[in-house]
Amino acid sequence: MFLSETLTGEQPTISGILAPKLGKRSVLQFRNPNLQPVLRTTSMKGLIRHAAEFLIEKVAENILPQQASQEETQEGVAVCSYLSISGQPHVPRCILPASNLDPRVKEKMERLKWILKEENKIIYKNYPCLSCSIFGTTGLKSLVSISFVKENQPQIQTSESPVITSITSFYFTHQFIRGGSPLYVDAIKPGPLYNFLLRITIKRPKTPHLHVKSDFDPITVATSVIYLSTLVINSGLFRLGRFKSRGLGWIQLIPKNTDTLKEILKATSNNLIEAAKKVLEEELKSRLLT
Ligand SMILES: [Zn+2]
Repeated sequence: MFLSETLTGEQPTISGILAPKLGKRSVLQFRNPNLQPVLRTTSMKGLIRHAAEFLIEKVAENILPQQASQEETQEGVAVCSYLSISGQPHVPRCILPASNLDPRVKEKMERLKWILKEENKIIYKNYPCLSCSIFGTTGLKSLVSISFVKENQPQIQTSESPVITSITSFYFTHQFIRGGSPLYVDAIKPGPLYNFLLRITIKRPKTPHLHVKSDFDPITVATSVIYLSTLVINSGLFRLGRFKSRGLGWIQLIPKNTDTLKEILKATSNNLIEAAKKVLEEELKSRLLT
């Protein structure tokens, strides 16, 4: 099952920064062996995951009863990377098998009732968390793979390939002057369209409980989360390369057509967002409400 999406730069999208050192461009980021700047599928996937985690947290906060304390909210309501442990933000903490969990993480997850002990049984209510369930974690393969597709080339490449397509012609290098020393920045010109395929696949349908806790199937849940996440990204809240490369790339993710989406979510064009939100809410209720 895949969604075909189109990516277009709304502003110059910074893909890497060349730090000036001894007057030379000493640091090359996001370039292929021919030193051509490239857009990585891992960057795209990271961007979608960041947006999805934010979205899941926000929706979870809304469905949880009011008694959730401020302290608990700060610990992370639904997504493990939002748990504040050892001062490392945004690190997935769900690890399979669960017995390998850091005891401090385990203790927090139990306190938040993500993991319940009932007599001799352990119930993994929100474990792995929805983000890890969709995007993968140590011991659990991601349901999502992204590949760029060259125009008029229908063949699909795997997401394992770090450099999918060279898009040099869409890039320009710009020189900023900061405090007297030049800073070189690679950027994507606004406007061009990149076709990429975002595929959601589940290889072992025997283990749907690892991915979903509600009655929906993993494909439906993952599709809902990713579709809503693209709307978050389109709003400009999360941008390409914002954290690691200090990028400012505001991009738009446009579904090529919404037929697949409508089919999976059993929705029409008019209630697509509504349908996706309902799936996400149901899934989070199964995970977070005891
Ligand atoms: Zn997790």
